Amino acid sequence: MSALSGRRIRLQGTVQGVGFRPWVYRVARDAALTGRVRNDSGGVTIEAFGPAAALDAFVDRLSHDAARPAAAVVDSLEAEPIAFEDAPAFSIDRSETTEHPRVSIPPDLATCPDCLSEIADPADRRYRYPFTNCTACGPRFTIVRSAPYDRLATTMAAFAMCPECRREYDAVSDRRFHAQPNACPACGPRLDLRAADGDPLPAADTLAEAARAIRDGAIVAIKGIGGFQLACDATSDAAVRRLRGRKHRDEKPFAVMVRTIAGAEAIAELSAAEKTLLLSAERPIVLAARRADSGLALAIAPGNPLVGVLLANAPLHDLLLEAAGVPLVMTSGNVSEEPIVVDNNDALFRLRGVADLFVLHDRDIVTRADDSVTRVIAGRPVVLRRARGYVPRAIASPVPFEATVLGCGAQLKNTFCYGRGREAVLGPHIGDLDSVRVFRDYEGAIARMGQFLDVTPEIVAHDLHPDYLSTRYALGLNGTVTLGVQHHHAHVASAMAEHGLRGPVLGLAYDGTGYGTDGTAWGGELLIADYAEFTRLATFRPLALPGGDMAIRQPWRVALALIDDAFKGEAPIDAVPLFRRIAPGDLDVVLRMIHRGLNAPLAHGVGRYFDAFGALLLGRPYASYEGQIAFELDAAADPDERRRYDYRIDQTPSPWQVDLRAAVRAAVFELLGGEPAARISARIHNTLAAVSVDLVRAAARGAGRLPVVLSGGCFQNARLAESILRGLEPELTVHLHERVPPGDGGIALGQACVAAARARRL
Ligand SMILES: [Zn+2]
Ligand SMILES: [Zn+2]
Repeated sequence: MSALSGRRIRLQGTVQGVGFRPWVYRVARDAALTGRVRNDSGGVTIEAFGPAAALDAFVDRLSHDAARPAAAVVDSLEAEPIAFEDAPAFSIDRSETTEHPRVSIPPDLATCPDCLSEIADPADRRYRYPFTNCTACGPRFTIVRSAPYDRLATTMAAFAMCPECRREYDAVSDRRFHAQPNACPACGPRLDLRAADGDPLPAADTLAEAARAIRDGAIVAIKGIGGFQLACDATSDAAVRRLRGRKHRDEKPFAVMVRTIAGAEAIAELSAAEKTLLLSAERPIVLAARRADSGLALAIAPGNPLVGVLLANAPLHDLLLEAAGVPLVMTSGNVSEEPIVVDNNDALFRLRGVADLFVLHDRDIVTRADDSVTRVIAGRPVVLRRARGYVPRAIASPVPFEATVLGCGAQLKNTFCYGRGREAVLGPHIGDLDSVRVFRDYEGAIARMGQFLDVTPEIVAHDLHPDYLSTRYALGLNGTVTLGVQHHHAHVASAMAEHGLRGPVLGLAYDGTGYGTDGTAWGGELLIADYAEFTRLATFRPLALPGGDMAIRQPWRVALALIDDAFKGEAPIDAVPLFRRIAPGDLDVVLRMIHRGLNAPLAHGVGRYFDAFGALLLGRPYASYEGQIAFELDAAADPDERRRYDYRIDQTPSPWQVDLRAAVRAAVFELLGGEPAARISARIHNTLAAVSVDLVRAAARGAGRLPVVLSGGCFQNARLAESILRGLEPELTVHLHERVPPGDGGIALGQACVAAARARRL
């Protein structure tokens, strides 16, 4: 019998609003310990009393137990001995009402297995109830109006709990103890079915009715967790095409929602890591290889061998999928690139003509959050679009924020980021800041997150691009210090921050375009950087972008610039199939623009090289969304091809310059000789990987074996990232993005960290 003792255990991380205290209570009770657990401003504090050996085992379970609530993330656990106290039992203390809002609002959590079995059980009072939730699951961030996170601060304040729900909410040992959105059919939100014109459609079973319409080919607008979604039968080409037509979305892939992991395996080849990601409490869209026998409509992702799959994340989805019996397209409820609709009346107005049927309900959404998008790269989960399920989870920052910092993000795929204390909080994916509606959403989301965190930014960091609306927003704020941060420095800093690196690092930042300190478009950069400073060690030979932004939507223009440069004006333009698809007059005009430098700014972006090679090899003159051609080039590459082309790294200028002209000539000759595009594409990827490995090795010879980070939108390309990783490891440690997007969705974090580091030196 060991001596009676006590422990005070402090846990920090995402431990509030995720069912952590009830779980601690059960574990303590099972171990016959006494004491208490409470939420406080830092996280959760436990005081436990009992035999020393049992206390040690308890601490061990708190740190390692696999049965810990799925959504809980423990960042730190500290245990210290305290004197034994003869407490009567183990209890959950009420939270301090003065709780500081510093404690994070939890992210939205996918339905847990316990709730799923309740809604499937005809004897349960929540049988088929689409708003079932508990402390381990349900909406959180998207229904909060103000901090601290409490029922009255959420849109559930409008629903008075019935006696049974109240009893669950008040009972410390109940799974619904302090489950803020707790609800049941007697007291909670209800569905409301509407026809295409908005008229009420009384139905005995709303979701069965919606499922029937979907099977008949209809498009149904559904109010999901962070906003409306548009659903249709994913196996019907006609339905999917109709949705494309009405949404004005030509070719951008649609995500497909299924009910179970077996359903996901029927449409995609899934690795263990991909299955884990699909089943995670965040329930993101996972990009995975589509099965040849998936049965999905071809129109879901034309020309794309991947499919974005996600599992149901709310009981409503689960019930709908069960009734429909087919996988469903589940795409953002918006028209083209506007913000997703969150409000009932807005849905009836803005999605009129798009949806044939509306499934509304009366639980309001405060903050929109799109479905998050992820991909497994080099065996690790990488978040490509960070929104529902991940936001507002904080990222521990290696740079302390002595003043509150706001990073305003970039122009495309915008997110913003607050930094305070030792934490950075990225806001939800906002989208491209080029419409008034998106910009208003951006301003609103920044203000709301500032309220949740109870902070006012003292330093505002922005991109150097003067025309980004995020830059204009920053410069338009009164009474704050503003700091411009170079785009690729911000990329590299964001990768450093998420891996806790203090720098210096060698950072490869590859993307389409980012404003350089010299006013030109960078995007094929090797930097040596810490948070405060960077030096540009190398870049890619620039390409002309005839027509500026038009060249991005019409990559044949960049392809023309690429081969014109490589063949010194003697390019075999007439022989290349791509250019036969362009009117001769247009070719002449664009060639003249290139030669005279008229409206043909030079750009160093690796993304532009991908666009140009893709257009050339695949004979694709136009892109209907950003990154499309680069993505198809990646998809086309033969995985078994090992050869590469020649290249040069010119080390005389500073920065060094990567010269791919020999590779371009070789690829064009092979193309004209009838070599399959799959092999040429693979060789181009191999060439870019080899040149990147050479660059980093050469830099490491001068700078030492620093950690390496890979950042920028091009590292969504798994083949490129994985080849560079293989080439550099184990000689150097290489970090890919994981919790923060490699593309411009991660930039705000880097901006905030750079600004904090610079401010410390002021
Ligand atoms: Zn639950
Ligand atoms: Zn109730």
